[in-house]
Amino acid sequence: MMRKILPTALHFVGQGLGAYCGCCGERPLPDCPVVADGWQNSLCATCRLDWPPPWSQGGPQSTAEAGTIFLGLWPYQGSLRRLLVQAKEEVRGAASVLLQRAIHQELARRLSCHPWPGRIWVPVPPSRRRRWRGAYLPEELGPMAAKQQGGRWQRGLSRVKHVPAQTGLNGRQRRENLQGAFAYRRRAPSALTLFDDVRTTGASLEEATRAARAAGATRVRHVVVAVVP
Ligand SMILES: [Zn+2]
Repeated sequence: MMRKILPTALHFVGQGLGAYCGCCGERPLPDCPVVADGWQNSLCATCRLDWPPPWSQGGPQSTAEAGTIFLGLWPYQGSLRRLLVQAKEEVRGAASVLLQRAIHQELARRLSCHPWPGRIWVPVPPSRRRRWRGAYLPEELGPMAAKQQGGRWQRGLSRVKHVPAQTGLNGRQRRENLQGAFAYRRRAPSALTLFDDVRTTGASLEEATRAARAAGATRVRHVVVAVVP
């Protein structure tokens, strides 16, 4: 519990003392915040300007696959990218807290007019390498996002096949590499939301979707924090 509370507390104390940017940690926060109570107030002027514009403006986007809706929040660029890299290094640190606040605000803005039917939110399971590193970023960011949408967080998918690292592979190779890698532990809910931090080629999400459908899901939604353009 303390591991979770301490970085958050330090983060907010730091802000109160007029401290430094939550992203680069190098530049002081501006004297006059631009957004009242917004997470952007934890960023210096440079990192604020460097935050990417929302991915695919407007509401959720339908994908080519029937019954699947994809919602990416931002492109994997600029200060968001730096914040995600930091959060992966220290999953329960201040960068994760800042990301949670950013995701919260962005989901509220995007989904206010779009009822989101996938009430069970499921993380795309981590690779063995990521699992070895302990905490896993989607499991730090996803539960709060699920709760905000009136949903429930559930670890339904698991890795049933360990595959070589995906780094350096193109989309087709990643798809082949991941074939049969995931399975649902029980019968899947008919509508669910798959959550991931970064979408590179979409191969993991596709394979996770296939596994969920094989276990009975008919409507699969994707929510991804950052999309590699
Ligand atoms: Zn900064």
